Amino acid sequence: MKKIVLVGTGMVGMSFAYAALNQNLCDELVLCDINEKRAKGEAQDLNHGLAFSKTSMKIYAGKYSDCSDADIVVICAGVGQKPGETRLQLLQRNLEIFKTIVNPIVDSGFDGIFIVATNPVDIMARITRKLSGFPNNKVIGTGTTLDSARMRYLLGEYFHIDPRNIHGYVIGEHGDSEFVPWSQVTIGPKPIRDELMDNPEFKMDDLEKIEENVRHAAYEIIEAKGATYYGIGMAICRVARAILQDENSILTISARLCGTYGLDKVYVGNPCVVNKDGAVRRMELTLMNNEMKKFKESCELLDETFSGLEFK
Ligand code: NAD
Repeated sequence: MKKIVLVGTGMVGMSFAYAALNQNLCDELVLCDINEKRAKGEAQDLNHGLAFSKTSMKIYAGKYSDCSDADIVVICAGVGQKPGETRLQLLQRNLEIFKTIVNPIVDSGFDGIFIVATNPVDIMARITRKLSGFPNNKVIGTGTTLDSARMRYLLGEYFHIDPRNIHGYVIGEHGDSEFVPWSQVTIGPKPIRDELMDNPEFKMDDLEKIEENVRHAAYEIIEAKGATYYGIGMAICRVARAILQDENSILTISARLCGTYGLDKVYVGNPCVVNKDGAVRRMELTLMNNEMKKFKESCELLDETFSGLEFK
């Protein structure tokens, strides 16, 4: 029996829930939201699709006490920026919200794995770890999983290669300081730099544009349709499946670094091995000097932001 509790039944949460239903991800899916009426309505709506689906998933609106025997709690709850509010003020408000979510979940006896998607995701995952007191492996942020998928799709288009054969990762903060360490990207088995040298029609300038597109994808989508949710919903599903099926998959989730690259407390997107125990191994990449500099700058930024928070 695989059970997931989703907290936050907004656009992101419900995109995840819809993907989970269609992918037959678990046996039981509980929907929680401060807006209980909404959670109930969403459960009803999904249940009406069951007759057309390949699963007999049990879906219902619940409470934090339902987390006691859950394998995973996915948190997508949060509030948006108010006019005139700084990012740090928004973050402080989201911290207060997370207290009202994480504390009762821990009190329920929950002993599974947290997956956090609420933005800024690296900070919110670190906050969840701090509030829960859970071991590092059991609190995961979605990190740059979606950004890495976006990059692989765009590189696949550019090189006319199936994105599944593009091996590369976006690392760092899920945000403006994220970047692609090109030294680590391969097309099938071939390093991307060798492919550029062998085929002059492919250019580094174009790759840099692709990197910029990946970094700005969310802004572009938000401008066009107000929010992003399908892609992240599927990314959450991917991370949850790696846990539920004990896959040992490598995903660029946000996990505490725990000494990787000589860094410790910060939560940041970096390739990690994910299995039933959560984030079990962080991979230390052999980065070029300029890549290492960017990564450390991104970590410093995250660390500074986290330090600005008041936990009381
Ligand atoms: P939304 O406003 O549609 O949904 C947020 C939900 O949280 C609402 O249903 C609201 O009722 C609920 N909520 C608010 N306070 C709560 C509380 N105290 N307890 C329980 N539930 C509460 O927003 P959305 O579009 O679904 O986005 C959710 C979050 O996901 C945002 O922080 C957004 O920035 C983030 N996001 C992350 C990524 C990523 O890659 N990690 C991508 C897209 C969006």
